[in-house]
Amino acid sequence: MNSTTELPRLQLRRNEDRRIRHGHQWVYSNEVDIAATALKPFAPGAQALLVAASGRALGVAFVNPHSLICARLLDRCATAALGREFLRERLEAALALRERLYDRPFYRLVYGDSDGLPGLIVDRYGAVLVVQIGTAGMEVLLEDVVALLVERLAPAGILLRNDASVRTMEQLPLYTRVAWGEVPDLLELCENGARFLVAAGSGQKTGWFYDHRESRARVAALARGRRVLDVFSYVGGWGVQAALGGASAVCCIDSSQAALELAARNAELNGVADRLTLRCGNAFDELQALSAAGERFDVVVLDPPAFIKRRRDQKSGESAYHRLNRAAMELLADDAILVSASCSMHLPEQSLLDIVRGAAHHAGRRLQILGFAGQASDHPVHPAIPETRYLKTLIARVQR
Ligand code: SAH
Repeated sequence: MNSTTELPRLQLRRNEDRRIRHGHQWVYSNEVDIAATALKPFAPGAQALLVAASGRALGVAFVNPHSLICARLLDRCATAALGREFLRERLEAALALRERLYDRPFYRLVYGDSDGLPGLIVDRYGAVLVVQIGTAGMEVLLEDVVALLVERLAPAGILLRNDASVRTMEQLPLYTRVAWGEVPDLLELCENGARFLVAAGSGQKTGWFYDHRESRARVAALARGRRVLDVFSYVGGWGVQAALGGASAVCCIDSSQAALELAARNAELNGVADRLTLRCGNAFDELQALSAAGERFDVVVLDPPAFIKRRRDQKSGESAYHRLNRAAMELLADDAILVSASCSMHLPEQSLLDIVRGAAHHAGRRLQILGFAGQASDHPVHPAIPETRYLKTLIARVQR
């Protein structure tokens, strides 16, 4: 932008630059030397030159004095405020990756810090883009983001799903609105050859979870001729693809009637409605009811919402994962596949493995891990930011 404008400085306390120098991009408010550079005068979303205690420049960052993560590094080389040209370069790089990965325009186009765009998520549903902004700094650049997306991709519509609770941590208002063109109530996408309709404005997150794409394909390939249970099915992402893969029967469980109605429509859209049954209710109760009725499945997919949203939920969240995996064990046929996922950033893969191992042990079953899976490549992991690797998926064989 304007290279002559000098940026205000934000200085870290001694040794607090270590994590940043190792590649992380977040600064916590207790790491700032507020005697040298107060946080308070910064407007939320303003940019600053981040400097170490020695005075050495670390790069340009977004600042939000109201947030626990009070600064997010944008660029290590820049010394002046970043705007449209910076966004253009990063968006172009993000697009180049996805165009290399996928031949159809259905994917996560921008994944925040991992794409060097802190607080920006863009999911692409063909001609419609759904954007989520999670930092005050990105909110300031919102008009530029929309203008660049319009210029580069000529979408029919752009929807802002700025209703995620993470925004409250940045003291940003919650809202959903169309930022460009027209956005229909239902968006259509294609994944692994299956078609899906999702609710743009009222569905979970941006409407669809592209992160499980690769694992869903893997599970569909294991489903031929088998009975499949899709727990926390939402609109049928796993179940419908398993049915297309040749599953003999698929049961979807979710507590949302609206999600299940879309799952039924999606089954119809893919010509597999005759093999899909739906159960609306609390997953824990439904699993117990199925077990009591003597039902057994050859493949069970557990893909719950994050049970550990914050550190303080660690204990109760882990206990919910334990209960869920134990309940699933009761429903597995003698030689079955269990897919156990967790999108809780705070649950390490090793803990999920311990939970599944514990559940198998408790049920007296033998366990073989067939795969440790995670996010599809359109959700790249930033090697220095473990928080970007939130999704863990164990694919296991469970034998009697
Ligand atoms: N498996 C889905 C994503 C799951 S999102 C996919 O691959 O697309 C989480 C889902 O869990 C939501 O649809 C939500 O309605 C449902 N849910 C949340 N709590 C639940 C509960 N206690 N019992 C059943 N469903 C629940």
